[in-house]
Amino acid sequence: MKKLLLAIAALTAAAVSAQDRAVWEPEPELVNAPANGAPPSDAIVLFDGANLDQWMRIEDGEPARWEIADGVATVTPGVGSIRTRESFGSMQLHLEWRPTDVISGSGQSRGNSGVFLHGLFEVQILDSWENPTYANGQAGSVYLQSPPLVNAARRPGEWQSYDIVFTAPVFEQGELVSPAYVTVFHNGVLVQNNVRLAGATFTPEPVYETRCAPYPSEQMQDCTGKMPLSLQDHGQVVSFRNIWLREL
Ligand code: MG
Repeated sequence: MKKLLLAIAALTAAAVSAQDRAVWEPEPELVNAPANGAPPSDAIVLFDGANLDQWMRIEDGEPARWEIADGVATVTPGVGSIRTRESFGSMQLHLEWRPTDVISGSGQSRGNSGVFLHGLFEVQILDSWENPTYANGQAGSVYLQSPPLVNAARRPGEWQSYDIVFTAPVFEQGELVSPAYVTVFHNGVLVQNNVRLAGATFTPEPVYETRCAPYPSEQMQDCTGKMPLSLQDHGQVVSFRNIWLREL
């Protein structure tokens, strides 16, 4: 009986403690997250199947010329990588992608594209179904930096998804005070767990620079604030749909 009373007292104490620490304000904003996979109500929709008006070709700022059909945007090989017209900081990003089921290459030459966070850090897109390549270059990798924890690839021709949490780097007075971090779910499977990004993908060594050319064909620019998001034309047929983000 004494033990029972002590247990009840402990539970009561815990309840009182929780009440003391309860926070009521501000109340989290209500966000509607549809069950059908549509973007949450507070998302910035970057591609809903209609057009690529929010994107432009990186090399010259011309309209993005990827093919759009049946609500899907597909890389037209050779027409160029694209980036958003707007710039963003830290974000939750969702995109769906599909490598062609017409197999013509292998390794890095099969279903290669990529999403460049801040235009600088590539989360690799690749057909990694029975397609050996270096681990830090397969689907779900931070290209040349961090292999995925597992290979969550689906068969070519099937839709796949990335859900990414990107924490942007922080600069103060021209100095990096906090690097970027990324968490990636590939088809709902965790493949990058709050990984510290060593620096940009396309510099000879990964570095953080206050001025940079995010993609090799871009002009030098200030790289300490918000940056656009890029999608890669690597010369292979990869399709995209349902691209949205929530700034954090
Ligand atoms: Mg790539």
